[in-house]
Amino acid sequence: MNIAILGSTGSIGKSTLEVIRQNIDSFSINLVSANTNHELLLDQCEEFSPKYSFLHDESSRRLFEENANKRGIKTSLIHSMDDLEKAIGSAETDIVVAGMVGISGLIPVTSAVKSGKKILLANKESYIVAGEYLNKLSKENGASIFPIDSEHSAIHQCLNSTKNTSDVSRIILTGSGGPFLDKPIIDFASITPQQAINHPVWNMGKKISVDSSTMMNKGLEVIEARWLFDISDIEVLIHPEGIIHSLVEYKDNSLLAQLSVPDMKIPIAYGLGFPGRINSGSKKLNLNDLGSLNFMEPDLDKFPCLGLAIELLEEGGTSFSVLNAANEICVQAFLDERIGYQDIYEIILKVLDRIEIKTVQSLDQVFESDRDSRTEALSIINQL
Ligand code: MG
Repeated sequence: MNIAILGSTGSIGKSTLEVIRQNIDSFSINLVSANTNHELLLDQCEEFSPKYSFLHDESSRRLFEENANKRGIKTSLIHSMDDLEKAIGSAETDIVVAGMVGISGLIPVTSAVKSGKKILLANKESYIVAGEYLNKLSKENGASIFPIDSEHSAIHQCLNSTKNTSDVSRIILTGSGGPFLDKPIIDFASITPQQAINHPVWNMGKKISVDSSTMMNKGLEVIEARWLFDISDIEVLIHPEGIIHSLVEYKDNSLLAQLSVPDMKIPIAYGLGFPGRINSGSKKLNLNDLGSLNFMEPDLDKFPCLGLAIELLEEGGTSFSVLNAANEICVQAFLDERIGYQDIYEIILKVLDRIEIKTVQSLDQVFESDRDSRTEALSIINQL
């Protein structure tokens, strides 16, 4: 199997390469891509000898080429989005790992879907804003989408033997509750970026770490689950240990869960190996050492972003792209210390109020609503 990894220098990309190192006889790399990290990209090219590489940033491309020559690396560097899409869609690529962050991933993900690839999707933003559209395209072109999100991988595993989703009564998405689960709401106003990116269970990028702390990540995951599994009865359960990654309840009241240590290599190995199983290189889970597991309901007063995302399930259409875009802008502004922690929710709410919500007929509509929402969020932030 020949793999294209988009976002190969990020946390999902690096974990994917670790899984591939465990299974080096079964997989090869066709393409690696990154934003700016030309040094790590070069190291990856040296180790895995992919045919193609791509860097979004032009000055990083120049540095990549200079050093590739010096080091005798033969990987050819792609210079345009068009050529990147061609490499993704080419017959040489069997599996596309979408590990990049943000809505910019939507175009390469769409070309992978259009060319009927098996897609390991960690770029949840693309799927949240355009899930209905991508599902339709995926059906038409015989693509398959595997979630690289621990919760959705768990649900996929628990549904594995189910042919008929009417046998399912509900999905229970678990979440650790993030770093502020036990923090009194009165102290939320003084939360700093450094505190917010310090996640107790998962080691992730900054954007998703802030999203986990506000529980917007869980809210986006509810929307993601709705598109992936076509089941709308979804509940969120706080489980601080992060061992049960999600559950499926069937109409006979049987509950199935997937358990493992929290390690993204497991969902990645599941997606790469499906329908078989391959070595993930993760630690084994020792239930004996754990002793007990805890569960509680989420506190929507402390984490209003979660409640907001659940409410939007009813609204649908471009409301998901407004939510996603406003959230991206607000999280960045918070990381840049331009707004306070609780402003994230307040500003998203204002943007949702000001941008008209439409049904999604085309990708252009998604991008338009994304652009308008960003502009609106930025203008609100600038007025603060
Ligand atoms: Mg997750």
